Amino acid sequence: MPKLVIAIDGPAGAGKSTVAKALAKELGLKYLDTGAMYRAVALAASREGLKADDGERTAEVASHTEISFGEGDPPPILLNGEDVSSQIRTPEIAELASALSTHSAVRKELVKRQQALVAEGGFTLEGRDVTTVVAPNAQVKVYLTASLEERATRRHVEMQEKGMSAPEYDDLRRQMQTRDHRDITRDESPLSVAPGATLIESGGMTIDQVVQKIKWLIPIED
Ligand code: C5P
Repeated sequence: MPKLVIAIDGPAGAGKSTVAKALAKELGLKYLDTGAMYRAVALAASREGLKADDGERTAEVASHTEISFGEGDPPPILLNGEDVSSQIRTPEIAELASALSTHSAVRKELVKRQQALVAEGGFTLEGRDVTTVVAPNAQVKVYLTASLEERATRRHVEMQEKGMSAPEYDDLRRQMQTRDHRDITRDESPLSVAPGATLIESGGMTIDQVVQKIKWLIPIED
């Protein structure tokens, strides 16, 4: 049996990262945050003075930029060796990553790298196209979601707990709604429920309940 791959897609703030990290820890899998790669590319692009519609030039910048993950829990994201884990978490970079990720040249560059990373299996990965494009043959595919209000509340609390400068709740909710809409309506690999994926509505569920539910989806070895 090929090594286990668990792929989780869903809108912003659905709890994908927390759940994927918990699964990786419990099952001894590696963890890949594909959104962090889009954010790292957005940071590299902004440092070059590029804007949301500079898709081709951003893909060009990405093609000669090393994006890797260091050791740690969670693993820090490195841009040409520099730890940019905090710098990619600002609302400005979130917005730029969302806009740049609509360009097919940017997606092509990152999907290629993500597929190479998970080719050996033994991964839990999360994003907006991992069940549909990056790892459509994963043994477990999940679409994790919750209401916009619930997701915005969670994200707001999380930002405050981490001491990040959180926008007002209503502004955050609007920003998330804009990003969701862009992800769902983009021409290139839009966020959608993949064939064979299990839809989990996490509203009212604890992280542990979601993790246990996903563990039940792992096929039993012969
Ligand atoms: O998940 P995160 O919020 O860090 O992702 C940042 C942005 O990158 C998302 O808003 C989404 O537009 C984009 N993204 C994507 N495909 C992925 C992961 C993230 O388009 N697989």
